[in-house]
Amino acid sequence: MQIIRQTNNYNKHLQYKQNDDLGTLVNECNELLKHVSEHTERLSTYSYKDALTGIGNRRYFQEQLNFHQRVAKRKNMTLCVLVFDLDYFKQYNDTYGHDGGDKVLQRFAKILENTFTREIDVVARTGGEEFIVLLLDSQQALAAGLANRVIDKLYQQNIPHSGSAISDRVTVSAGVATSEITDTLSAESLIIHADNALYRAKHEGRNRVAQSTTPLRPMPTQL
Ligand code: GH3
Ligand code: MG
Ligand code: MG
Repeated sequence: MQIIRQTNNYNKHLQYKQNDDLGTLVNECNELLKHVSEHTERLSTYSYKDALTGIGNRRYFQEQLNFHQRVAKRKNMTLCVLVFDLDYFKQYNDTYGHDGGDKVLQRFAKILENTFTREIDVVARTGGEEFIVLLLDSQQALAAGLANRVIDKLYQQNIPHSGSAISDRVTVSAGVATSEITDTLSAESLIIHADNALYRAKHEGRNRVAQSTTPLRPMPTQL
């Protein structure tokens, strides 16, 4: 029971062969373990929320991506991907501790939620300090404007970051890519373009947004 509890592995069951009171108790325990195991699996299947920030998690994002991709393709709408990555966040944790870092992630998630407010906007935390936003039927210039608003809002919060090489406070960089979804340019490919733009934003000095240039081509992995 101790091992099961410590490893959270409820698929196991207890071994006890004799048909006495202890045997009855062991059978009950095994029934309970089966119940917990099924319940845990259901929870993980249906859980779309990131536990730390309360916004969507990677699973949620993946589902929404599939859906948005189909809609964009069928309706000839654009799909816009914005990726955000906090600057020098490793140094932030090293200076202010992991709990301090977690609080920043929560505050940043709130900024995203308060900026992308249309019902169809998808906001998710897809990695440690990486966030992604999907906008259906939106123009690149508008999306870049919104990314800038996010960057400004975080800057205005003035969260001290003595470990940052570019600022006295916590900052974030963003990459934006927009395109219609076709047979050759998938949403996944669009994400790679947004990631490449983010990489450029980092290289150009961070605390800024970089945009993918149009027209986009399918990435090599898509060919
Ligand atoms: P860059 O400006 O190039 O993005 O540098 P960086 O330090 O932000 O990038 P890097 O990817 O090297 O580090 C990401 C850090 O994010 C590593 C880890 O300490 C931190 N991190 C990842 N997940 C979490 C989390 O859930 N909580 C906290 N507090 N920190 C996290
Ligand atoms: Mg990162
Ligand atoms: Mg980072």
